[in-house]
Amino acid sequence: MVGAGLAGLSAACHLRGDGHDVVVLERGTEPGGRAAELRLGGYRFDAGPTVFTMPELVHDCIRALGQEPADHLEVRPVDPLYRCTFADGSELHVRSGREAMAEEIRAVCGPAEAAAFHRFCDWLGDLYRVELPHFIDRNYDSPLGLARPLRPALELLRLGGLRRLATKVGGYFADERLRRVFSFQSLYAGLAPYEALAVYCVITYMDSVAGVFHPVGGMAAVPGALASALEKAGGELRYGTEVDRVLLAHGTSGRVKGVRLASGEVVEADAVVCSPDLPVAYRTLLPGTPMPRVARRGRYSPSCVLWHVGTDRPAPPEAAHHNIHFGAEWDGAFRALLDRGERMPDPSLLVSVPTVDEPEMAPPGASVLYVLEPCPNLDGRVDWLAERERVRDQLAERVGRLGYPTTAVVEHLVDPLEWERQGMERGTPFALAHRFLQSGPFRPSNVERRAPGLVFAGSGTVPGVGVPMVLISGKLAAERVRELRGRP
Ligand SMILES: Cc1cc2nc3c(=O)[nH]c(=O)nc-3n(C[C@H](O)[C@H](O)[C@H](O)COP(=O)(O)OP(=O)(O)OC[C@H]3O[C@@H](n4cnc5c(N)ncnc54)[C@H](O)[C@@H]3O)c2cc1C
Repeated sequence: MVGAGLAGLSAACHLRGDGHDVVVLERGTEPGGRAAELRLGGYRFDAGPTVFTMPELVHDCIRALGQEPADHLEVRPVDPLYRCTFADGSELHVRSGREAMAEEIRAVCGPAEAAAFHRFCDWLGDLYRVELPHFIDRNYDSPLGLARPLRPALELLRLGGLRRLATKVGGYFADERLRRVFSFQSLYAGLAPYEALAVYCVITYMDSVAGVFHPVGGMAAVPGALASALEKAGGELRYGTEVDRVLLAHGTSGRVKGVRLASGEVVEADAVVCSPDLPVAYRTLLPGTPMPRVARRGRYSPSCVLWHVGTDRPAPPEAAHHNIHFGAEWDGAFRALLDRGERMPDPSLLVSVPTVDEPEMAPPGASVLYVLEPCPNLDGRVDWLAERERVRDQLAERVGRLGYPTTAVVEHLVDPLEWERQGMERGTPFALAHRFLQSGPFRPSNVERRAPGLVFAGSGTVPGVGVPMVLISGKLAAERVRELRGRP
């Protein structure tokens, strides 16, 4: 196993559960990858993911080892899931639980919109039940797989899954604020709501209906739990161990033989699951083995600028754990970002304040801010060396106007150049965008046909980006290893 991010750990748990000898080789000093923790002074920060959904997928990994999830991880529901503010000064709390949310919508947007919310939830639930088992949690060997079996494909069509996401959400809600609240999730898939297919409303289901959770200890507690369960089950985790090359029988093709480490040591293996960002893995660990065309030529998701701030003051009382501050611009902001490769004019910001649920992440009475602005990846037109300081100052000014304390005791800004340095293609941590022809059977496969025994996991392969998806990718990778049994 190369990499102890969530995808690698998930694959390792499922494989160990199958009885394989598992060795995880991780170049960092702890598990988590993008979901690890950043520590500065007396402050702790979630380095990447902050909105944690579908904890049962973590539980599945631990149960695959025959262990009890509660022995490794405690999760608590976050309520509100998001606090949303709008340019007109209004505010809406996305509440945990359908009735509570309907009540909030009734109070802020009126009874017709509350009734529409119930219909929307029914539709989201139907969409999720068709999509998860038949289109997400499965391996593909050809595009024909999309229509096999036929019934779920027809059901997806009937549900309007191939219509545009913005059109579908707009069909339920007249209030522009609700349209935004239930469609911004397309950005998690690297797309604007007006271009994404409605099937990506499944992400809206995962947060707005299934709920957002807080792992006690911070996000890093999730990979920590998987690593501790794996070690308890006899899996081996080697940190500070960089893989330098995947070894194939004929150099650039042929059966996988193991990996060579940067130290020169060779670790032999019957199968290698490779979880660094897929295009980077091809370039650096498999030189000479052509990477899939879609990984070379496809459109990558936008990136983000992430500003971590440790302040010496508490967050304002109205702050929630996750706060989305919508800008006045919407379609225009997406067009700047996606069509012109520019920063969004008047961007919407995510400000997470994990100290709302986990005060221990900062010294007593102080708070931690996680400020995220979507921005172009390195295919865009921003000169990050020149822009970096300006972006930081603009974020500080905007966040201050929104009422947060911004006097930084410690701070750290991550821009696309830094994401690239950390090993992410085109400087985006969000991989290939989820266009139709870059998803499912069209996404880079998790097996390399030229190299039997080589399997991929992570956001660059199926099913895609985000914590739930990469946990599933690990499980799908383990299934691929299972398929190898009995092959020469
Ligand atoms: C800023 C940000 C915000 C996000 N927000 C959310 C969110 O709110 N909700 C959500 O669901 N998702 C979110 N995501 C997405 C989610 O975090 C990722 O999709 C997921 O964590 C990726 O996991 P992974 O295992 O595929 O990759 P990684 O976490 O990158 O794991 C790959 C591992 O491989 C290791 N590695 C690389 N090369 C080598 C080598 N040569 N030898 C040994 N080890 C190597 C790396 O050190 C790393 O540990 C966010 C991501 C970021 C960065």
